Amino acid sequence: MTDITARQWILGFADRVLTNEPRLTEFDQAAGDGDFGANIAGAVKLVQAELAAVPDSASANEVLSITATVFLDKVGGTSGPLFGLLFQALAKAAGETLTGPALAEGTAEGLAAIQRVGEAQVGDKTLVDALSPAAEALRGLGDGATLEGAFEAAAAAAVDGARRTKDIRARRGRASYVGEHAVGVPDPGAATIGLLFGASTVD
Ligand code: ADP
Ligand code: MG
Ligand code: MG
Repeated sequence: MTDITARQWILGFADRVLTNEPRLTEFDQAAGDGDFGANIAGAVKLVQAELAAVPDSASANEVLSITATVFLDKVGGTSGPLFGLLFQALAKAAGETLTGPALAEGTAEGLAAIQRVGEAQVGDKTLVDALSPAAEALRGLGDGATLEGAFEAAAAAAVDGARRTKDIRARRGRASYVGEHAVGVPDPGAATIGLLFGASTVD
């Protein structure tokens, strides 16, 4: 079986975000200012447009770099630049093609960059709550990991982490201002990390 390419991955992520945009908006309405769904949907639409102009022969590094640039330079909100740092690290880890070990390395480096900038720890009800367990699951796979197996392991860990954010009162980001209102609702950024690794829905 042929592994999916970086382009197929990112375009699949774009589709999953657009399908789930209303739910992501609801989550940020409960816990934040309600713009998360629009921010992330706007971002992936820009990425779709940019990638349409890139030849099929483009390397994984090029595809992920273009994605990173869109998120870093053109997307508002806190989440845009943070996702941009993740894609930048993934681009750096990937060469011509995306592999399981490259996904593991890029995810770990992206998590580190996001934590350097945002200073969130696991339990603060942010996307770190999904990205950190995903990075840990990927680290546990070792060098022989197939890309498909790596995505599956990362998605399962991220979805589980995103679910756990439901029970947490936020300590970082805008959600920290609303306190108990956000309990019972997952963090939208964490839910989107699940979509990134291949989950088809958010809950
Ligand atoms: P804003 O809060 O500026 O409206 P968005 O709605 O675009 O930004 O993004 C909110 C998401 O950003 C949250 O769901 C959370 O996952 C993520 N986030 C906020 N602050 C941090 C932080 N310090 N570290 C990591 N992620 C964060
Ligand atoms: Mg918001
Ligand atoms: Mg905002």
